[in-house]
Formats: sequence, structure tokens, C-alpha cells
Amino acid sequence: MLDFLHADLEKRKTLGLTRQRRLLDSPQAEHITANGQRFLSFCSNDYLGLANDPALVAALQHAAAEAGVGSGASNLITGHHRYHDQLEHALAALVRQPAALLFSTGYMANIGVISALMGRDDAVFSDKLNHACLNDGAFLSRATHHRFAHNDVDALEKLLQASNARHKLITADAVFSMDGDIAPLAAYLALCERYDAYLYVDDAHGFGVLGPQGRGTLQHLGLKSPRLIMMGTLGKAAGVAGAFVAGEQVVIDYLIQHANSYIYTTPAPPPLSAALLASVHEIEHGDARRQQLFAMIGLLKSELSLTRWHLLPSETAIQPLVVGDNFEALALSQYLQARGILVPAIRPPTVPVNTARLRISLSATHSEQDVRALIAALQAAERDIPAGEKA
Ligand SMILES: *Cc1c(COP(=O)(O)O)cnc(C)c1O
Repeated sequence: MLDFLHADLEKRKTLGLTRQRRLLDSPQAEHITANGQRFLSFCSNDYLGLANDPALVAALQHAAAEAGVGSGASNLITGHHRYHDQLEHALAALVRQPAALLFSTGYMANIGVISALMGRDDAVFSDKLNHACLNDGAFLSRATHHRFAHNDVDALEKLLQASNARHKLITADAVFSMDGDIAPLAAYLALCERYDAYLYVDDAHGFGVLGPQGRGTLQHLGLKSPRLIMMGTLGKAAGVAGAFVAGEQVVIDYLIQHANSYIYTTPAPPPLSAALLASVHEIEHGDARRQQLFAMIGLLKSELSLTRWHLLPSETAIQPLVVGDNFEALALSQYLQARGILVPAIRPPTVPVNTARLRISLSATHSEQDVRALIAALQAAERDIPAGEKA
């Protein structure tokens, strides 16, 4: 087996696909210290700048002194702390859903929910660009798994029409993590009504950012239905860690009995929920943060002028610059890095072949000067990097 592992790693290297970790030595912010060097960063999903917010840090410290740091047991034994419970109620109220349930991560929420709700006689319908953990959830559920072309409502309708599954669940990222575009969720919900299906929306990148007071993509689009179940992550705009699922009370009650990744695990430490209660407050009162974020998105989109590479049509904090070739995307990322700017190069299999890209993510903590520095560096790179450059 070890020879096989070696061969795989060597092959990745020759294809320009080796993934590497950087050592972060500062809080997550617009300026970070990574591998011992200072950088202007466009890498994080900390869209509102809450990951290092003093109110959240203070709430966590206070709660740790009062409640300790460990949850000690699973939720259904004695691990469900008052802070967890308060947070579930605050999150349900924020997203205007009847009830919510906390999970330790978004990954665990998606695999737990889909595998609990779906079984052998059921069918899951997924957008081809969905996050990997939605696919893993469908796989674990043993349901028939249909994947439809990105945002293709007609293709989805044909699959639903042809299906005689007992229960049907459509799953989609609300905001696609590597493209930044928003799924046609209103059209999906209409299909749910027509074909007696349910819609599971992964709002990892919309929660906190979109909708009035950051209530998320469903509120942004004005969607409400008992056929909707949403998942929001708490390690991105919310700035901490974890995730929640929100929907009808009966769905939440069922998940408490059936979602293995909820039942057979120790919940996140209570102080994290205390920090997240402070985060919910900051999100609800975070219009100034969102205004700054959207001003920076507008600045990048209006002022970046390139000919060889192009931004995808995204209105959100995720602004992908498509390069195409793996090595050229890496060369561009490294060019920026040499000039003190970090933007990750995203390559297959995270994105389709020949669509390697820089994933520029913006935050409320970026200043106009920061975004202008990125624009200037990208425009210089297009002049300096010959097409087809190998890293
Ligand atoms: C990040 C992400 C997840 C996973 O959430 P974690 O809390 O980081 O495990 C799920 N879905 C999408 C679309 C994501 O971007």
C-alpha cells in the first residue's frame, strides 16, 4: 500500500495538483502572518471580520471561565449545555425558521441530515457543483443519487419527473463555494411543490452575508415553505466554528433521533456557543459590515480590467478569476504571493478540469486600498506572466 501512496503523490506533483498547507501565525484577518511572512490575504471565508472580533473573544473567555472548556459527553447523554440551547433558539429566530439544531461542523451537518432523511427507496438530486460533503451525505444515505448540470432547472425537472422514489430531496449550495453564484432556489421550490420533493439548502456562504440583517439566502430570496430545510455554517461569516440545520420542528425532532453525526459525537465546547451568541448579535446588527463588504465587491468588479483572465459573474463575496490551466493558475497565485498578496489557486477536482482559478474572497475588513493593491497586482501579472507559463 505504501508504494501505491508514493506513486499517487508523485503523480499529483507532475500534474500540478499537490495541495499544500501554510502555517498561520496570526489571527484570521485581512493581513496575516503565514510561513513567517506578512501578507494581504484574500483567502478566508471570514466575510464579516468576526473571526477576531473583540466581542466574540470576550464572550468565549467569559464562558470558558464559567462553563469550562469541554462538553464532556454527547448531546443525548449530558453534553447539551444551556449555551448550545440558547444558540439554537437564537439561530432559528435569526433565519426565521421554526427550529434549529447545532452540529459540530458543516460537513457533519450535511452527511448527518441527508443520511438521516434519505434511505434506499429514496432519491437525492444534486447540482454537479455542490460541495463535496453534500455528495458524501447522499452516498452515505444509500439513496439513488442523481446529479444535474449546474443550475439547470429543466434537467432537474426531467429527473424528478422520471423518478418513482418514495421521498425526493433536492440539494444545492445556495451560494456556490468556488463560483460565487446563487442557485435558482425559487424554481427548485416550485419543482418541490409539483413533484412532492423537499429542498435542502446549504447556505455556508450566504448566511450572515445575504438577506436583511444577514438572515441568509432564503430570506434574501423571500422563500418560505415547510418543504425547505437549510444548513448554515458558523465558521465562515459567523467567525467561529460549527453549523446548524433549521426547518420544521418535526424535521429537527427527527434529526435528534436519527442523525448519526449529531448523536454519536461530542458537541463543540459550550464557550464556542457563547461566542456564537455574540456573533448572532453582530450579524443582526451588522449592516455597516455588510455595506463595507458589498462596497469592496463592487470596487473589484468595476475596476478590475483584464483580457486573458475573467471574473465569473458573481454578486457575492466569492469572486473567482478563471485562468484555466493548472500551472498558469499556480503561477499567478505565486506571482501575487511574491508581492505580498495571498489568493488561493483552486484546481481540479475541487473545480472542473480546465477551469483552474484564483478564488478571491472579500471581507468587510478589506479597505479600498487593499482591493486596489490586488487589482494593480493582477493587472501587472497579466503583462508579466506569459500565456502557458509553468510554475
Ligand atoms: C465550508 C462548507 C461546508 C463545510 O462546512 P464546515 O463547517 O467548514 O465543515 C459545507 N458546505 C459548503 C458549501 C461549504 O462551503
